[in-house]
Amino acid sequence: MFEKVLIANRGEIALRVHRACKEMGIATVAIHSTADADAMHVRLADESVCVGPPPALESYLNKAAILSAATVTNADAIHPGYGFLSENASFARMVHEHGFTFIGPNADLIAVMGDKVAAKAAMIEAGVPVVPGSPGSVDDVESAVAAAEEVGYPVLVKAAAGGGGRGMKVAQDADALRKAVPVAQQEAQINFGNPAVFLERYLGHPRHIEVQVLGDKHGNVVSLFERDCSLQRKHQKVWEEAPAPGLSEAAREQIGSICREASARIGYETAGTFEFLYEDGEFFFIEMNTRIQVEHPVTEMITGVDLVAEMIRVAAGEKLSIRQEDLKINGHAVECRINAEDPETFAPSPGRISDFHTPGGIGVRVDSALYSGYAVPPYYDSLVAKLVVHGQTRTACLARVQRALEEMVIGGISTNIPLHQKLVAEQAVVEGNYDIHWLERYVGLK
Ligand code: ADP
Repeated sequence: MFEKVLIANRGEIALRVHRACKEMGIATVAIHSTADADAMHVRLADESVCVGPPPALESYLNKAAILSAATVTNADAIHPGYGFLSENASFARMVHEHGFTFIGPNADLIAVMGDKVAAKAAMIEAGVPVVPGSPGSVDDVESAVAAAEEVGYPVLVKAAAGGGGRGMKVAQDADALRKAVPVAQQEAQINFGNPAVFLERYLGHPRHIEVQVLGDKHGNVVSLFERDCSLQRKHQKVWEEAPAPGLSEAAREQIGSICREASARIGYETAGTFEFLYEDGEFFFIEMNTRIQVEHPVTEMITGVDLVAEMIRVAAGEKLSIRQEDLKINGHAVECRINAEDPETFAPSPGRISDFHTPGGIGVRVDSALYSGYAVPPYYDSLVAKLVVHGQTRTACLARVQRALEEMVIGGISTNIPLHQKLVAEQAVVEGNYDIHWLERYVGLK
């Protein structure tokens, strides 16, 4: 097992990895930008290294500085968390070449799954159903129009290298598509450094359902059921739950076994997520995330498995500590993403935290790096806390979410807690009757 792990991240996920390491007897190294010198992840880590100025490009994305930090602190392995360098194939390769273990998949797999066109091709080969779309990337406007005729309108123009829900464009007809493709290509080049775009059929009322998998280097793979992440704004998840409301046991078993088979086929050796859209009883793969995800705690709540500890264990060459037959769904879990943002306009709201009180009691977990007096810097993602709640039934879970939100105090900045309070009482949410477009309509109507 590793003696020391460098955590190449910040905020709540850096704390999450730190906690898993401590419980496993592993020392931790935090990295931070100058803006994060007082951050909780730095305070709790055994050692810390400043890797650059506030802009992420010069600090949390600064590969050379992070590798130097690992070298000077004599770390054995690097956990990338999510975002930043977690799905950067060249970083994973460099980590390996410098003699450290990357706690994640190998660089080649990251490269394939990081390109949505290549990922879909790999999934088709592995027998996974995908969203109908252009067979590869569309290089010019007329080939896009020709492909769209086959796919059927409306179509969604997506960046092959895209992520974070950015840069997708819906086209209702050929005229709109002719305008959308060059803009999408240009935006893809600017945002992702790769202009390639492709088309998918734009689904009208799907749910976003994703399957958590874990693999090891000994050929073992398990799937840990699904999460429903349909409540999204601007293609970004706001509320996630497990299991997916209303999914039949047969559908659950079917998609779980498809993902296990695909994972075995591609030689998947760590934690990962297969993302699907689910419409009219059919699953359509959209992408694979080759890392731990923000919403992983809901799966931990219903299975009792520590996903981050398993990731560390398998990266060190150990076998998974769980078998498929041991996994059972226990109750229901919901995660509310608490963002530092105005609940009405969604404008970011960084600033100093005057009061911080986290809810507690049975079934309540808060993953957050906030503390009273801490100043949320303006440079990074607005996620400041995850309220994760478990209940024996979905109804009991929602009642608990409601009371936990009432107890939660984050003073000094605006947050979207009021939005979550409305959501948990909303009929469609209570009934579990929502699709990926529901929240956009809901916030648009207010
Ligand atoms: P990203 O990597 O940027 O997060 P994804 O491919 O994972 O992009 O899609 C993010 C979200 O965008 C999905 O959860 C869904 O809400 C929406 N979306 C993606 N593909 C489609 C599609 N073909 N039809 C309708 N909505 C889609």
